[in-house]
Amino acid sequence: MEWFFASWAFMAYLSGPFDTTGPYEIERNRYEPPGPADKWLIDIAYETAAAETRCTRCGAPLDRPRLRADAWPVRVTSRCRSSARHRHRADVSRTADGLRTNPLIRA
Ligand SMILES: [Zn+2]
Repeated sequence: MEWFFASWAFMAYLSGPFDTTGPYEIERNRYEPPGPADKWLIDIAYETAAAETRCTRCGAPLDRPRLRADAWPVRVTSRCRSSARHRHRADVSRTADGLRTNPLIRA
């Protein structure tokens, strides 16, 4: 799983603004809602993470994650596939350096 989190610096760079007005523009964009590229990257990343993550309570695989991405931080949720349906959650924040991801943990 380390490759996933280590690669975020590169992926966050790809999702950043492409204008050349300098650091002030990047700082302003921190407060804009997540764009389609952000949502796509987070969705793909956490779909992969959920496929490789087991429930910390019962060991069952996790369902496909859902995003609440109307504002930062983006909330990622998933439930395990056992009958208990244990809930797991992660938040993704926008920082000056890009995106900060967290592992899916039991909520
Ligand atoms: Zn479970």
